Amino acid sequence: MNNSKIWLSSPHMGGNEQKFVQEAFDTNWVAPLGPNVNGLENDLENYLGSESYVGALSSGTAAIHLGLILLGVKAGDEVICQSMTFSASANPILYLGATPVFIDSESDTWNLCPIALEEAIVDRIAKGKTPKAIVAVHLYGVPYKVDEINTIAKKYNIPVLEDSAEALGSSYKGQKCGTLGDIGVLSFNGNKIITTSGGGAIVTKSKELKDRAVFFATQSRDDAPHYQHSEIGYNYRMSNICAGIGRGQMEVLDKHIALRREMNSFYIDLFKDIHFVKVFQTDEEISFSNYWLSAIEIVPNNEYGITSESLRLALDAANIESRPLWKPMHLQPIFSNYPYYGSDVSQRLFENGLCLPSGSNLSDEDKIRIKKAIVRFFEER
Ligand SMILES: *Cc1c(COP(=O)(O)O)cnc(C)c1O
Repeated sequence: MNNSKIWLSSPHMGGNEQKFVQEAFDTNWVAPLGPNVNGLENDLENYLGSESYVGALSSGTAAIHLGLILLGVKAGDEVICQSMTFSASANPILYLGATPVFIDSESDTWNLCPIALEEAIVDRIAKGKTPKAIVAVHLYGVPYKVDEINTIAKKYNIPVLEDSAEALGSSYKGQKCGTLGDIGVLSFNGNKIITTSGGGAIVTKSKELKDRAVFFATQSRDDAPHYQHSEIGYNYRMSNICAGIGRGQMEVLDKHIALRREMNSFYIDLFKDIHFVKVFQTDEEISFSNYWLSAIEIVPNNEYGITSESLRLALDAANIESRPLWKPMHLQPIFSNYPYYGSDVSQRLFENGLCLPSGSNLSDEDKIRIKKAIVRFFEER
């Protein structure tokens, strides 16, 4: 039997990507602008609906950076951020010289806990500073508690930066993720649900804001024949080559989401009789998840040697990649000195959770190998 590496999430081309890239070469649009950039932005705007405006950028991280700038974050400000996330949600706060204030997760969606969020806002205001923005994340494609978070954000008049890097195609009460906050962020990195090899996008509610983001992303050039600058500029625009890959990927996005969701059903079925494991799921009554990554939570059992790490090692021995959940930011050396509100929900998830192979390109043979390795791990214990 073939024993090649089974990856967590690898690029999956649809077929037309090279056609769009070839067009870029044929017309010599080999630049950080051009018809593919406009085309991808159009495709995304149509896909997201809700009168959204999309600016294609060089990465999701760049989109978060520009999003915070658009929300007026400056040096010395405080910005609230979900602790359990990828570091790219938080790093741009530091780029701006602002201070992150980290918040625990709740155990339903693993995302921003509304109770800890409000507690933090009240306490920061009492200490003399109203937070400038809230960075909320849809982890692994599962939407956060949007109504609860937006209600609190409105109550204190603080804008939400919606980090939807993992959630393109997910939705909450029928509305697409990326359009649920004041500003949305998408990522097309190599391991995301669709890829442009590297890239991202900012989603805004007005054309003026989108134009402002693109202005910053193209070195903040004032309207003049020479190079004239009144504001700090960035080189964050997406290249027309990468955007060509993105246009091809948009043609297969919904098909690939269906396949990721099939992987999630595969794990639900696989673990239904294994009581030590709970597969992470969204509340289907309220929201729809793209299940970018399928994740599980293990009830550790030291007597049997069942931990997320022992399962990870067993899968690794079978050449199957799995990965611990995001390590919360308040536990990271670089962020450990910033304020944190909540208890130990995200820490426990980190200790007991695992992401399993979830790609839309996994074969039936891959699934058989994954199932065998997991069943053997639990039978041996
Ligand atoms: C991937 C990711 C990002 C960053 O996107 P890049 O395109 O890799 O810069 C930000 N936030 C989250 C939650 C992510 O998963």
